[in-house]
Amino acid sequence: MRKPIIGFIGLGIMGKPMASNLLKSGYSLIIFDIDPLRLKELFDKGAAQADCPREIAEKSQVVITMLPDSPEVENVWGGERGLIEGINPDQILIDMSTISPSVTQNLSKSMKKKGVHCLDAPVSGGEIGAINATLSIMVGGETEIFEKARPIFECLGKTITYCGPSGSGQIVKACNQVQVAFNLMGMAESFILGAKAGVDPAIIFQVLSGGYAQTRVMDVRGPKVLVGDYQPGFKSRFHLKDLNIILRTAQELECPLPVTGLIHELFTAMVVQGRGELDHSGIISVIEDLAQIKVRSNAK
Ligand code: NAD
Repeated sequence: MRKPIIGFIGLGIMGKPMASNLLKSGYSLIIFDIDPLRLKELFDKGAAQADCPREIAEKSQVVITMLPDSPEVENVWGGERGLIEGINPDQILIDMSTISPSVTQNLSKSMKKKGVHCLDAPVSGGEIGAINATLSIMVGGETEIFEKARPIFECLGKTITYCGPSGSGQIVKACNQVQVAFNLMGMAESFILGAKAGVDPAIIFQVLSGGYAQTRVMDVRGPKVLVGDYQPGFKSRFHLKDLNIILRTAQELECPLPVTGLIHELFTAMVVQGRGELDHSGIISVIEDLAQIKVRSNAK
């Protein structure tokens, strides 16, 4: 089957390398972002430009969105000059952003009335995973549409999992973000306890990385935290956004998540303190303030 033309909207930290991998795999791409500075590199690699989401829908067979949050996705899909004004029956819309599962389900229902098929396909694996095409992709929607889109996912990720009907991908992503938040907090508090007692945090990193306490979060972010490098990566204001999605979803399901609630408050404090653009591993700075200590390795 001929490769479909793909429209790609949202070329930020994640979207740009993902779009770049699709170009490398031989797909024709038409792209849009409200920030034109995000686009130049992809034009140089052969992508075409659109002036609005409507034009993206008119000129492509598959549309991928990789946007910050639910309001941006709702706006790009249904707003003025939005995708909905240009879509055709049998088109496939894939939202790879992390957004609310219930918003996903509502969008999917309204698009279905127009004959358009939707998949929610949020990702984990971060910027490195996006660059190396090793993302974990969790997909919700109809199985038949998932199978049609699978070759596209295979250009972007390594672990591609069908999770169930519309919204299921977002639910699994919410679970993922609970686990990542816990691991970040575990790393922060173990470094702080050790540092307060005068142990070099590099020793703590080395020992914990070699035993039952090992986590991917610590493997990837530990060395940066030890030198106070919180360059994103994944912005902490986005993790707060995800924690809001998680708690709202938990409320809808009457599902108590007591520890997630506490971590939500700590991320709120981080963002209120003006640290929302820092990587989410910078959550350690909130506990550093409470404990009145900075975690830095003495190792040269
Ligand atoms: P980002 O802020 O770097 O990129 C978002 C892009 O969307 C920007 O280029 C912005 O200009 C564009 N945009 C915003 N509103 C728009 C609109 N109305 N129309 C067109 N373009 C618009 O964010 P990111 O880090 O790439 O994250 C994108 C999504 O992926 C988020 O939902 C995030 O939670 C999720 N995610 C991020 C990571 C990560 O490590 N960065 C990992 C997994 C999932």
